[in-house]
Amino acid sequence: MGFADINNCIKTLNRILLQKYDDMKGDIAMDPFIAFDCPHCQKLLRAGTKLVGTKGKCPNCGKEITVPEEDSVSNNDAKESEDN
Ligand SMILES: [Zn+2]
Repeated sequence: MGFADINNCIKTLNRILLQKYDDMKGDIAMDPFIAFDCPHCQKLLRAGTKLVGTKGKCPNCGKEITVPEEDSVSNNDAKESEDN
């Protein structure tokens, strides 16, 4: 009985991990990205639109950031995106 429980746990865990991996791949492949400046170091960052409102760490300065809503940057779409 105990073994079955453990095996079930492992199977469930593997399935969750695989699903998460698939979700991540889906995000990268299908979802548009939001570009925004880190409020701490002003580094230009990108995050999938699904991550709006979630907190993360700036890869540049390591401080906590929150992914802003798409609306706050969508105006930039009209402008030249390859400005830099
Ligand atoms: Zn930063």
